[in-house]
Amino acid sequence: MRIEEDIKLDYADVLFRPKRSTLSSRKDVELKRTYKFKYSKHQWSGTPIIAANMDGVGELSIAKSLSKFEIMTCLTKQHDLKIIKRSPVIKEIFPHISLSTGTSDKDYKKLNEILKEFSFFEFICIDIANGYSDHFSKFVRSVREKYPTKTIIAGNVVTADMTQELVMSGADIVKVGIGPGSVCTTRIQTGVGYPQLSAVIECADAAHGLGAHIIADGGCTCPGDVAKAFGGGADFVMLGGMFAGHEEGGGKKIKKNGSQFIEFYGSSSNTALDKHYGGLAEYRSSEGKKVQLKYRGKIKDTVLNILGGVRSSCTYVGAPSLKQLSKCTTFIRVNQQFNDTFK
Ligand code: 5GP
Repeated sequence: MRIEEDIKLDYADVLFRPKRSTLSSRKDVELKRTYKFKYSKHQWSGTPIIAANMDGVGELSIAKSLSKFEIMTCLTKQHDLKIIKRSPVIKEIFPHISLSTGTSDKDYKKLNEILKEFSFFEFICIDIANGYSDHFSKFVRSVREKYPTKTIIAGNVVTADMTQELVMSGADIVKVGIGPGSVCTTRIQTGVGYPQLSAVIECADAAHGLGAHIIADGGCTCPGDVAKAFGGGADFVMLGGMFAGHEEGGGKKIKKNGSQFIEFYGSSSNTALDKHYGGLAEYRSSEGKKVQLKYRGKIKDTVLNILGGVRSSCTYVGAPSLKQLSKCTTFIRVNQQFNDTFK
């Protein structure tokens, strides 16, 4: 047994130190980024935020709304050829969509069928809860061989060694986060995890050294956290809970005490496993939960609030663009990040 003594940080453990700045207005801050990916050589431009591949979030109707902001959506694994074919706008919004697959034959077959008919999709997200198995790296390698010009996202991992391993196996983008998610119970069920800001900082450093990119996936609770992820070196930030509970997510509205609620659940929750896989295998336990969120209306307002917050963070630290945010970032460690007298 070994204990690592150095402290690892979550978003709530730090704040940005404000710096003198010549920027006069937050409206001058450029949030758009352009990336060229290591293996695919594909060039993507947009606002580097991604809706997570979770039910009620990674949906085509969400993608349609987010694409207006050039924000990406990672569709859930349940999106098969039939569902994609039914979307009237797919040819317009595909640059901001990633398809998803797990490592099962069934998932991969579904992905291959979509790509055979709609070869224009650029992004493939291969994600499993634990990206540390040899089997996973081998799978990424085989997808890279089959699709040399697609941009491959692979995850989830939280350490530099495994980020490098996935990049060397053919991932253009590594997805970072184990246990920080709003409806994730992995840390309670398994005791496994890594504070998300430190994971982002360490994995970004490893990926950038190899010319690859990372997604900070999970754990953002407010626009300030999104900014901190970028400040820590994330190239993209993936949001589940912050994009859940909206009209476009399509969830059934529940009326309670005069308010409306929408259910949101983890991809490994009993609810998701019952819905998509006919229940939980006996040898495993659920690692996600279900919550009821107050209905939040149109996603556009949430997006504007997030982008406004990130722009403002940039002005506070003197970054004229999102690209410069991490260079302008000094984090200070704090014991309390905000005043919660009136919750
Ligand atoms: P959030 O933005 O809600 O904090 O986190 C979203 C991320 O949580 C997703 O992109 C995914 O990586 C992770 N996630 C989603 N569902 C589950 C689940 O049931 N269990 C675990 N461990 N993680 C989940």
